[in-house]
Amino acid sequence: MSSTQTSPSQTASTGSGTRIVPNYIGGRWVEPAAKQFIDVVNPATGELIAKTPLCGATDVDLAVQAAAKAFPAWRRTPPVNRVKPLFKLKDLMEQRFEDIARMITLEHGKTLDESRSSVRRAIDNVDLAIGIPTRMMGQSLEDIASGIDCQTVRQPLGVFAAITPFNFPAMVPMWFLPHAIATGNTFIVKPSERVPMSQVKIFECLHEAGFPEGVVNMVNGAKDAVDGILRHPGIAGVSFVGSTPIAKYIYEEGAKHGKRVQALGGAKNFVVVMPDADIPRAATVSTESCFGCAGERCLANSVVLTVGDAYEKMRDKLVDEAKRIVVGDGTRDGVTMGPVITKQHREKVLGYIEKGIAEGAKLLVDGRGYKDPKNPDGYFIGPTIFDGVTPEMTIGKEEIFGPVLCIMRAKDFDEAVSIVTRHELGNATSIFTSSGRAAREYRYRVEPSMLGVNIGVAAPMAFFPFGGAKNSFFGDLKAHGSDSIEFYTDKKVTITRWW
Ligand code: NAD
Repeated sequence: MSSTQTSPSQTASTGSGTRIVPNYIGGRWVEPAAKQFIDVVNPATGELIAKTPLCGATDVDLAVQAAAKAFPAWRRTPPVNRVKPLFKLKDLMEQRFEDIARMITLEHGKTLDESRSSVRRAIDNVDLAIGIPTRMMGQSLEDIASGIDCQTVRQPLGVFAAITPFNFPAMVPMWFLPHAIATGNTFIVKPSERVPMSQVKIFECLHEAGFPEGVVNMVNGAKDAVDGILRHPGIAGVSFVGSTPIAKYIYEEGAKHGKRVQALGGAKNFVVVMPDADIPRAATVSTESCFGCAGERCLANSVVLTVGDAYEKMRDKLVDEAKRIVVGDGTRDGVTMGPVITKQHREKVLGYIEKGIAEGAKLLVDGRGYKDPKNPDGYFIGPTIFDGVTPEMTIGKEEIFGPVLCIMRAKDFDEAVSIVTRHELGNATSIFTSSGRAAREYRYRVEPSMLGVNIGVAAPMAFFPFGGAKNSFFGDLKAHGSDSIEFYTDKKVTITRWW
């Protein structure tokens, strides 16, 4: 393993001069053993940014060895001292806030404002983890029987890993890493191979924050790296965020290899609009929810399910709102929606639009032909709205993960609830209504575990748990909030008698 102490921008490059994304192992930037690469491309311009090495079991093993070596001393470090580098990390992330946000926009495509929001959410998780000395406390009870006391302490388990998706390159790994290390574990991040550079920026901060060698590590790659993690006996648990088929695979394969697993999957989110809702507001907020981050958001409400009379007004307002969206390079002022992540993903989303037309949905706003004259090689799709979508249509069933909004109709509240509960996914949902009774009944009866009432993006802040239900989530303990303490620690119970 050849290593360097310099920053990744000075490390290895391919023959053509393109930067190879380094791994970070044992406190050093490390050249990977992998010899195959995947391109990291700016989706707004088509420009090559870097090459991600497709690491496998060999590179994963180096990271596990470093993390396992660091664990005993890190675990013995008092929690109050373990969080000291997290204060420094927060400071560094605040100082480099704009730099990190810009990298997210360059490799992912979302607008700078969207990138900034996600960096803020990442820092929120560092803030929360800094409170670990109180949050990690156990419980005790005197006299569980005469003269016998009982005490629970929380103990870290060893090496954990996170496998993360492309759509929030800086934020999602930070749903996990700060909590895992603050509780005394050591950690490995496997970022999405399509957007690794934002994590490089975060790891530059982690490097300077002064964590002992091996406490935090990063291995790049795709399936082979993931399989290396799932099958490695030295890893105690895995946190995953991504699509449903892969989440299910991670859950099953991780469990088969004796690991704790939390696996957050895909989404198809419905927003129910009642006739008594503030329709202009519901339309504005739903448009932002669906088209924000070009629809590549697990909390996007991509199906607007109108109830009764809400339909007509809502439909017309959605069309007006969609026409106001400015598509283009997310680094440009005034742009409100960027490109989708890759050329292949663009083709996939366009395929869904064709399918919607073929299956009889009515195209109200057509984003297929959108071109940005300044960026002819960008992977743009304009906002697209379908009317007359039914739950049986492909576009009514499957996650599109692009700027496509589907309007569905229900004759009454019960039918709307039935459409939402019949869907196999259950990540998030919203209801727009002025009736507290309807909102309460909706919360009571539908399964998605992140629910907005007159809110378009039902995003739990760092101090609440984040994760869905049904085939949107595999496991029982969710991301961040109090669940993170449960996931990253074991509860040891001691029962004591002294006479
Ligand atoms: P993805 O499932 O393709 O990839 C996620 C991770 O899994 C990546 O790190 C990737 O390298 C790895 N991976 C991909 N294919 C694999 C395979 N065959 N075997 C093992 N590992 C593999 O997801 P994506 O396209 O990066 O992200 C989009 C998906 O993530 C959407 O479905 C979205 O809804 C979901 N998502 C969910 C949440 C949530 O909170 N539930 C949050 C963000 C994104």
